[in-house]
Order: sequence, then structure tokens, then C-alpha cells
Amino acid sequence: MVIRPASESVAKTGAASMRQRRDPNTLANYDQWTTTHTTTDFTIDFDAKRLKGTVHLTLENLAKDSRQIILDTSVRANDETAEYQLAASRIEPYGTPLTISLPAKTDPTASHVTLSIDVATTKDCTALQWLTPAQTSNKKHPYIFSQCQAIHARSLFPCQDTPDVKSTFTFNIRSPLPVLASGLPTGPKDFQPSKDGKPGTLLYTFHQEIPMPSYLFALASGDIASASIGPRSTVWTGPEELTASQWEFEKDTEAYIQAAEKVVYPYAWTTYNVLVLPPSFPYGGMENPVYTFATPTVVSGDRQNVDVIAHELSHSWSGNLVSNASWEHFWLNEGWTEYLERRIIAAVHGSDQYRDFSAIIGWKALEDSIAQFGEDHNFTKLIPDLKGKDPDDAFSSVPYEKGFVFLYHFEKLLGIEKWDKFIPHYFTTFKQKSVDSYEFKATLLDFFANDADAAKKLQNVDWDTWFYAPGFPPKPDFDTTLADQCYALADKWQALAENRKESDFKPSAKDIESWTANQSVVFLERLQSLPDHPITPELINLMGTTYGYESSKNVELVSRFYTLGLMSRAESVYKPTAELLGEVGRMKFVRPLYRQLIMRDRKLAGRTFEENRDFYHPICRGMVEKLFEKHG
Ligand SMILES: [Zn+2]
Repeated sequence: MVIRPASESVAKTGAASMRQRRDPNTLANYDQWTTTHTTTDFTIDFDAKRLKGTVHLTLENLAKDSRQIILDTSVRANDETAEYQLAASRIEPYGTPLTISLPAKTDPTASHVTLSIDVATTKDCTALQWLTPAQTSNKKHPYIFSQCQAIHARSLFPCQDTPDVKSTFTFNIRSPLPVLASGLPTGPKDFQPSKDGKPGTLLYTFHQEIPMPSYLFALASGDIASASIGPRSTVWTGPEELTASQWEFEKDTEAYIQAAEKVVYPYAWTTYNVLVLPPSFPYGGMENPVYTFATPTVVSGDRQNVDVIAHELSHSWSGNLVSNASWEHFWLNEGWTEYLERRIIAAVHGSDQYRDFSAIIGWKALEDSIAQFGEDHNFTKLIPDLKGKDPDDAFSSVPYEKGFVFLYHFEKLLGIEKWDKFIPHYFTTFKQKSVDSYEFKATLLDFFANDADAAKKLQNVDWDTWFYAPGFPPKPDFDTTLADQCYALADKWQALAENRKESDFKPSAKDIESWTANQSVVFLERLQSLPDHPITPELINLMGTTYGYESSKNVELVSRFYTLGLMSRAESVYKPTAELLGEVGRMKFVRPLYRQLIMRDRKLAGRTFEENRDFYHPICRGMVEKLFEKHG
């Protein structure tokens, strides 16, 4: 690593003022220096599985008396880079602070400084996943994609790895295969022909003029093709999957954008595109600006899982334009995003029944997360204490669903007309900024200060309980119209399982003929939550064949069916579960399936994990390893 302090004074964004360090998950002294522009000059080397190049950080001098810039890195002190003012030991889980002392000749009052740092990733880089051709769908070319949320950008390049710092970005990325990055494309250029039989390379360039945090840095490169899915939207995926992906998204994408624009304000990032990743992608989606990265489980051939797109699109406002100031305030990203996602769903279906139905599914996910941590656990708080903690360990449905319930509570408390005036105000006030829960509260109280009725209602909000009490929030009075059908059918299966005399129920395919896949999800989750798990293995087999669950291609549905089967000790689902765990690396499915499989058939679970270790993303792999330890 070579550090070259330079004094090019390039101010790309407005002056920031002296500020507090309110993010406990960074080692950077961002109260004294703040990054205003980041240029990444990288070459993708698929053979060496290495990203190599130079990152140029332009930092604004906030303190005017600080001779040292401290950046986040995950570099280990025992490698060759140690001589470059790297701390002698790692500070777990945050990595190694890189302290750069400015040369004596640098003017301490200079407004900006640019650091150029040569970097080369190692196999320990937790932000990148390198896929061999065998791990991709057509098995012809290698693939790379990044996932920097929450604190993995520091493993790619030294930076101020906190969502409380936002910078504009320039991406110059050389690769033999097409590249996408989280900016607007400015064209591939500068072809360099092959050497020794290898393919030639192009320099793919992108620019992001809206300041964004380091965790939104993203790149992907592989055998990807594109097709239009709307007037300002394109889908990118493997050539073989392109037609199916286009069909999945082309009906809804533009309608979703317009629905969100009506609730907040016009879309800011020019184009909205979707990159459908190979199956080992650990998340449902990642809201990388301009290009949402999405799991291939969204493409289920029935347009039943497009709500993931409504979710990632909503992050264009909540998270990407208005970012949580630290991961302790993650609910401001995810709670708002769930809220907007469900407003989109309601608008597109023309009924609030559909958003409440989605919220009921969310409440179940909240119950699962709280059960997993325990009701008193710090991570079940809306604002958890993450000092000394790895934000990945706190990841769960809590910030999503408790955050959603909090915002839904305000909508019902104030009435939707008043609340809808606050939404664009909030997103305007903090546009291109980072925000914490206390600023949210102050802005809300201030907005309604002159409305006596609203102000009185807000006075009665118990903020401390909402912010800091662990466990469940008050359960809202959801519209259960769509869910009631699912519960009624679940009751019949329960009666059948308990051999109740009054049950003359004969299951038939007609029972679910008119249902959406998500209604089957709610039906299955209802049965999962029955005390003492009365459903027998025989009934699981009957349900699988009668309703076609056992052969469903919809992973949302089939994973719930397998989970119920595992809970019911139906051995017929053990092997299919193991097979699914070799095809899908999305943690939402991997986590509950491994948890159940470990309890039912530890040997099979262990073998399945060993066989698929390299298939999983490092974050997912670590999560599964922890499950094995926990149930050891
Ligand atoms: Zn999200």
C-alpha cells in the first residue's frame, strides 16, 4: 500500500461543518476530516481473484488542526502493508485503523487533501464474492459481485466506512467482462487487446454525482446482458435468464416508481435498473443506487415476488438519499422502506387490504426474530446499542418490522392526510444527508408544532419505550380480510391433525385455487406457529401433493413448506431441503432451513454445508457456521 498525500483542492460537495462522531462502528476520525469525493481505479483479475488498483479519496478538512487522517481498513497487520502506519493489531470487529500523518509541508488550513492509496484485495476481503464459471448459471464465465453493507467497504479499500459520511464517486473499472457499478454509466472505453491468449479488456466508467455512503459502493462483472423493463428501467442478468427476468419485471417496475413518487417526490437517480445475480447472492436485494442487486428467487415465473423490487426501489428515497447516520438507527432505512414498499403495494392493487396483508407477513417475521434473540435482547430494540458489536450480528427483521409498525402507528395516530404531508417534508429535510432517530423525532414534532390537535397526539407518544424497550411493539389492528381465508384453512388442517370428530374436511386443490402465493405463505406460517406442532408427516405429504407445494418453483412458498415439514418431522422433506440449500444462497431461506435441518438431521445438515461451503457468500457462510455452534 502506498500513500501519497496530495493537496489538490477539489471541493466537489458543499462545505460540511465540524460534527460529532455518532457512529460507533467506524474507527475513522470523520469529525475532523470528511470524504467529499472517491475515485476508484480498479482492474478485475478473475484468475487471481483479485481487485487491484488505486483509490483516490478527497477529504475536506473540518477541524483545521488535525494532522492525522484515520481510515477504516480490514488489512491485517502482519502482512506487507504493516509498515504504512497501520495499527499493530485489529480492533474486532472493526478492522485496523490506518493512520495517515500529513507531511510537514502540508498546509494545516488547506480546505481539502487528496489521498491516493494503492490497494489489492486478498482472499480475506469480505465484500467480494468471486464465482467460478461452475457457480454461474451457464457455467461459461467467472463472475464477481460486491456487497458492502454494513461495514465491508473497508475490506475493499481504506475509507471512512460510516453511513454518516457521503461522497460523490467516480468508478473506472477494467474487466474482460461487462461491468455495472452504483453510478450512471459514462461509457466503456480504451480497449486493450489480449495477451497470451487471454481475453481483451475494456475500461468501464461510471459517475455518481449524488453523494452516497461507502456501503453503497457496488460493482458486478460477468456474462450479463440487458433488456428494457420500462421507460427508465433495464434488467441485467445472464443471457439465458434474460427473457424470464424481463417478463417478471416489465409489468410493474414503472408503475412502482410512479406510485413511490406520488408518496414522496420524483425519483432522483435518473434511471432505475435491476441486476439479477447468481443464486448465491445472500440477500433478497441490495439497494445499490441506479442498479438494484436482486436475488434470482425474485424471478419465480409468476410475478408473485416482485415486492422485493418495490422494496429496493423504495430505498432510492429511504437509505440512499436519506441515510441512517449509524447502524444503530437502521430502522430509519428499513422501517421507512417497508412503509414505502407497502404504500406502493396498496397503490398498485388499489386497496389497503394488500398492504395490511403484507404487514401481517412482516409481523410473523418480527415474531420469528424476537423469538430467536429472546424478548429482552438488545437487538430487539428499535435503537440497539452496537458499541463494540458487528452490525451483521444484529441483522434481523426487527428494524424492518418494528420500524414499519412505528411509522404505521404515526399514520393512524395523525390520520393519513396529515401524515402524508410530513413524508415529503422529512425526505426533503434530510435529502443527501444522514439522519438519526433524534432528528427524526425533532423534525416530526417541529412539523406539527402549530397543529394543536396533532401536537397533542404526539405529546402522548412514549418515545423512550418505542426507541429503547426490547421485544414487541403494540400490535396494530391490521385488516385481516385476505389473511382470514388462510387462517380458516389452517384451522381445518389443525382439526384434521387433532382428529377432531367435527372435522369432515377433505383437502382438495380447490382450497387454494384463487390464492396468491403469499396467501399460501401465510397459511403455512400459521401452521408453523401452532403449539406442539400437531401436523403429522402423513399430513405434510398429503398437503404437498394436493396443493402442489412439493413441486413449486416459488422459493418463498416451498421454503415455508419445508420448514413446516421439518418441524413436523416429515422425513420426505429432508432431502429436498438439502437440495434447495445447494441452489439458493439467500439468507432469508438458508437461515431457517439450516436451523430446522440441524435439529432434525445434523449429519445431513453438516454434509450439506460442507458440500456448499464455497457456493455461499462469506456473510452467509459465517451465519450458518454460527448456527452450527449454537445448536452444537
Ligand atoms: Zn431494505
